Amino acid sequence: MGLFARRKTILVDSDVLVVGGGMAGCGAVYESRYWGRDLKIVCVEKSNIERSGAVAQGLYAINCYMGMQWNENQPEDHVRYARNDLMGLVREDLGYDIARHVDSTVHMFEEWGLPIMKNPETGRYQREGKWQIMIHGESYKPIVAEAARMAATEVYNRIMVTHLLMDKRKSDRVAGAVGFNVRTGDFYVFRAKAVIVCAGGASHIFKPRAVGEGMGRTWYAPWSSASAYALPILAGAKMTQMENRIVLTRFKDGYGPVGAYFLHLKTYTENAYGEEYESKWYEHTKQLVGDYVDRHPVPTCLRNHALLEEVKAGRGPIRMVTTKAFQDPDKETVGWENFLGMTISQAVVWASQNIDPKHTNPELTTSEPYVMGSHATCSGAWASGPSDCAPSEYQWGYNRMMTVEGLFGAGDTIGGTAHKFSSGSFTEGRIAGKAAVNYANDIGKDKPEVSEAEYEDLKKVIYQPLENFRVGRNEIVAGTVSPSYILPIHGLQRLEKIMDEYVGGISAHYMTNQPLLTRGLELLAMLKQDLDHLGAEDLHQLQRSWELHHRVLASEAVTQHTMYRRETRWPGYYYRADHPKLDDHNWHCFTLSRYDRHSGKWELEKAPVYHIVD
Ligand SMILES: Cc1cc2nc3c(=O)[nH]c(=O)nc-3n(C[C@H](O)[C@H](O)[C@H](O)COP(=O)(O)OP(=O)(O)OC[C@H]3O[C@@H](n4cnc5c(N)ncnc54)[C@H](O)[C@@H]3O)c2cc1C
Repeated sequence: MGLFARRKTILVDSDVLVVGGGMAGCGAVYESRYWGRDLKIVCVEKSNIERSGAVAQGLYAINCYMGMQWNENQPEDHVRYARNDLMGLVREDLGYDIARHVDSTVHMFEEWGLPIMKNPETGRYQREGKWQIMIHGESYKPIVAEAARMAATEVYNRIMVTHLLMDKRKSDRVAGAVGFNVRTGDFYVFRAKAVIVCAGGASHIFKPRAVGEGMGRTWYAPWSSASAYALPILAGAKMTQMENRIVLTRFKDGYGPVGAYFLHLKTYTENAYGEEYESKWYEHTKQLVGDYVDRHPVPTCLRNHALLEEVKAGRGPIRMVTTKAFQDPDKETVGWENFLGMTISQAVVWASQNIDPKHTNPELTTSEPYVMGSHATCSGAWASGPSDCAPSEYQWGYNRMMTVEGLFGAGDTIGGTAHKFSSGSFTEGRIAGKAAVNYANDIGKDKPEVSEAEYEDLKKVIYQPLENFRVGRNEIVAGTVSPSYILPIHGLQRLEKIMDEYVGGISAHYMTNQPLLTRGLELLAMLKQDLDHLGAEDLHQLQRSWELHHRVLASEAVTQHTMYRRETRWPGYYYRADHPKLDDHNWHCFTLSRYDRHSGKWELEKAPVYHIVD
């Protein structure tokens, strides 16, 4: 017990607590201050908001901008686009809500100093595609973080939030959060009237293509550890579309993005024999998904599908034809700059593998699956919609409030709304911030109360891996192996193997079925039991331990949802071999789950999809 007694406990009170200071979190903080001038707005972040989250190393394009000032697109157009890409299933109310506000967000970014490229002929923002505008975005995150820092009452960096706290008097109302400082080890108890979870998506739940020396190299940020899902799941919030994992076609080994290449440089792909292959798979795909294959643009998953089938037919590798575009010096510059502002490692990989895209067409591959709610998929929490346009069934309270009272979310956290990207995530943070302030004001004196017994119990649980290591290391039998604990890296690799082999990862060509999923759930249950025996050598490993806890719970949700949806809705993201076709008759719906942390049981149900835009 000595280990626990030494830990300082720091209590922090707030009106609105924002967990995670990435794009959505910064938006939530900024807007909470705007509407809650006198409120205490606190942001807690496991890294440092200056360079945290998926935008940490910069971006080259803002992928969600309507351009309403020039009548380029309207919010309804974006809803149609996202619905098409997600094979019909999006929360149109939430997507519309983001789309109608996103331009104002981008204009603020420009005012704050973000350089946005301009088309010299029209004076408008330089488009990369219909929705994307190009930026000099190396410092995108520090610029956005500065606005949040100035708006927040306090920002607590380097604190990993492990659990949400519930109200002592009302078990379905949130009351705050707990976590620990990953540098000092101090224990933090945040008490809040409203909590907004903005803790990013999930990488490293499926085995990555890059293992061993390349293990940290994933497409999605390696530090995105599923807290956005685990925190609400543990609090009893309903989740939606957790089966809708994303698989990306990217440049091989560096995961360099391909969007600017396709859209701006007008490059294209071919198989190993220099042949166009997508059209060859048209009839085959049509049999699986029907008319969805005829939609324009072709849904992202279906483009993956053609690539995967071509490779399975033995005509890989697939290459991006860059050699023609790169003869134009301007395009060559754009091609390289695209990586230097966003994914420097791709340029380094090409240099190390003697690939100059001016002379060699680089290989493409598909990534391992990730779970996220802001890119081209829409996993996340089930949230109440805007009062003016959400169908009544989607409204049970404040905008972006989950099914737990006082608990809000934005960005990767919120499900059903794909294609928000960096600007849309910030915008959704703003929407959630405004709603959370209203909620905090409306509850008046009826403040949630935190139970001291609850957080003291959690304190013991949170630091237990350090104790397990301290005791168990005396029994080391070889190298780092102790019979009494497992190390976080071992648990992570076990998780990745289970998800890869049973839930549709790269080794299984993204294929799964009912028996595989059933066995996957059994193995995940065994892994969960062993998590009580995690051993952490230091605070860094303690953070890894809790990231693993979060990843495992999110993985369980993914597996449960994948089992529940008995169809293959998104070929190219994953396949149910026992239900190989899209089935609009039975499954044109959202899947919802709720986890009971006391019994460990999941309940799943369907929710209707309402089309509010024609
Ligand atoms: C490789 C890649 C390329 C992309 N390219 C583009 C692009 O070109 N254009 C574009 O517009 N968008 C792009 N996006 C999408 C964009 O980055 C995301 O949509 C956006 O960052 C999501 O915002 P978020 O706040 O939900 O998550 P993030 O921005 O990732 O923020 C999550 C935050 O939560 C913190 N956190 C996590 N867990 C905890 C915890 N337990 N306790 C406390 N803090 C925690 C994290 O440290 C992080 O700061 C890209 C994303 C990726 C991964």
